[in-house]
Amino acid sequence: MATATPSNLPPSAEGLPLHCVNHPETETYLRCNRCSQPICLRCAVRTEVGYRCKACVRSQQAIFYNALAADNWIAFGLAALVTLIAWPLVAWLLRISGFLGWILAALVGSGAGASLAQLIRNSVGRRRGRFLRHFTLAGILVGLLLSGLLTGLFLSSFLAFFSLGGLFFLILVIVTAYQTLR
Ligand SMILES: [Zn+2]
Ligand SMILES: [Zn+2]
Repeated sequence: MATATPSNLPPSAEGLPLHCVNHPETETYLRCNRCSQPICLRCAVRTEVGYRCKACVRSQQAIFYNALAADNWIAFGLAALVTLIAWPLVAWLLRISGFLGWILAALVGSGAGASLAQLIRNSVGRRRGRFLRHFTLAGILVGLLLSGLLTGLFLSSFLAFFSLGGLFFLILVIVTAYQTLR
């Protein structure tokens, strides 16, 4: 029980608990290792370099995620456009190829998702965005809806091109694109 430990940042000078900056009623021995504000466990975020307060984590992320606001809409538009054009064709091919459609879907699904992600990444100058993948996902869904409406208009059946192989393909594309984009 040393009363004054000469260390650069002791929990508190007298070994007494500190009070969290965000929750003054909560006692803590923890400090953010970047700004050294006392933080409680609720406010602490564990990073690879130690505990940090949420404000510091957020400002670090702001440097990491350098996408512009327009990038999200580029991702959305591209995903919608590519889906609108490619999906009816892919869906039709997978439908007429029957069981072979499953094999085709398994072979090319992830690759197609990765290509879409790559296309979007290049189109936004390789910037990283927190919401790029969400906008991409929304774009794919809108593209699907539009192509569904268009095929419904011309073929009088919304599900004219539907097949389980096609659905499988779609899931692979979405999962891969979603995981690739950050
Ligand atoms: Zn901090
Ligand atoms: Zn707190």
